[in-house]
Amino acid sequence: MLTGLQIAVIGGDARQLEVIRKLSELDAKLSLIGFEQLDHVFTGVSKEKITEVDFTEIDAIILPITGTDSNGQVEMIFSAETVEITEEMLLKTPSHCTIYTGIKNAFLEEITKKVKRRLVMLFERDDVAIYNSIPTVEGTIMMAIQHTEFTIHGSTVAVLGLGRVGMSVARAFHHLGAKVKVGARKSEHLARITEMGLQPFHLNELDKEVRNIDICINTIPHLVVNAAMIQKMPTHTLIIDLASKPGGTDFRYAEKRGIKALLAPSLPGIVAPKSAGQILGNVLAQLLEDDVMKRKEKFI
Ligand code: NAP
Repeated sequence: MLTGLQIAVIGGDARQLEVIRKLSELDAKLSLIGFEQLDHVFTGVSKEKITEVDFTEIDAIILPITGTDSNGQVEMIFSAETVEITEEMLLKTPSHCTIYTGIKNAFLEEITKKVKRRLVMLFERDDVAIYNSIPTVEGTIMMAIQHTEFTIHGSTVAVLGLGRVGMSVARAFHHLGAKVKVGARKSEHLARITEMGLQPFHLNELDKEVRNIDICINTIPHLVVNAAMIQKMPTHTLIIDLASKPGGTDFRYAEKRGIKALLAPSLPGIVAPKSAGQILGNVLAQLLEDDVMKRKEKFI
C-alpha cells in the first residue's frame, strides 16, 4: 500500500489515467496537475494548479512518458495551460523525492543532478520495455495489415535488431506464418535468432538480405535502412520503422523510390493506451512501494 505517500502527477496522456487509478487504489494521496479538462473523478485525488502544490510535502513526481521538452515544459492533453518544471520547484521537495519519467532528456538530467533528486527513467527498465513490446507488436501487425495487399502469412519479413522490441516482433510475425529473418551484429544475437527457429543474418549483409523481402521492420535507432539498402529492396516492400524518432530509415530516399516507409512511434499509446498505462501503473506502484520500504528500514 502507498498510504501516506504524496505524489504529484504532472501532465500526460490517456496512459496516465491508469497510473492515477492504480496509485489511488493503493491509497496514495495524489495531486493532479494539468488534468482540469478530465471529467473522471478518482477518490483521494485532487486537481490542482501547479502554483497550488505544496512541494515540501511531495514524495514523488510523475511526469509523462515524454518527460519534458528541452526547456522543461510538460506535454498536457487534458489542459489548455502549460507547465514548466523548474529548479525552484524541485528544491522545495524533500531530499528523498524521486522524479519518474518515461524517457529522459538533457534538461531533466541536468536539473535533477543540480538539485540532487533521483531521476528514474521507466522506459530504460527491461521489465517496462518487455511488457511494452506487447502492444508495440500488436500495433506493428495492425500497420502491416493496413498497408499491404498481401497476407503476413507466407510473406518474407526482415526484422532489424534483436532487442526487447525486435525479439517480440520477430516471434509474433513468425507465429503468424511469415518467413522471418532477423539482422543483428552480435554473435550471441545471431545464435538466439537461430535458436528461435528464424533465419539470422549479420547486419553487414543487409544489402543482400533485403533483395527478396516484402516487409522490413526496423527497431535499430540508427540509420541502418539507408539509401543503399532501400535501393536493393523490391518496390512493393513496406518499411515499418519502430525506432525512436527520427527512426533508422532514409524516408526521403524511400519516397523517391516509391517505397512506402512509415515511422511508427508510440504504438502502445495509440493501439492500447489502457494496457500501456497499466504496465506503467504496475511498475510505478512496485517502485514506490520499494521506496517506502527502504525509507522505513532506514529509520528502524
Ligand atoms: P533495445 O532492447 O536497446 O534494442 C535495440 C537493438 O538495436 C539491439 O538489438 C541493438 O543491438 C541494436 N542496435 C543499437 N544500435 C545499433 C547500431 N548502431 N547498429 C546495429 N544495431 C544496433 O531497444 P528496444 O527496447 O528493443 O527498442 C528499440 C527501439 O524501438 C527504440 O528506439 C525504442 O525507443 C523504440 N520503441 C518504439 C516503440 C514504438 O511504438 N514504435 C515502442 C517501444 C520502443 P546491440 O545489442 O548490438 O547494440
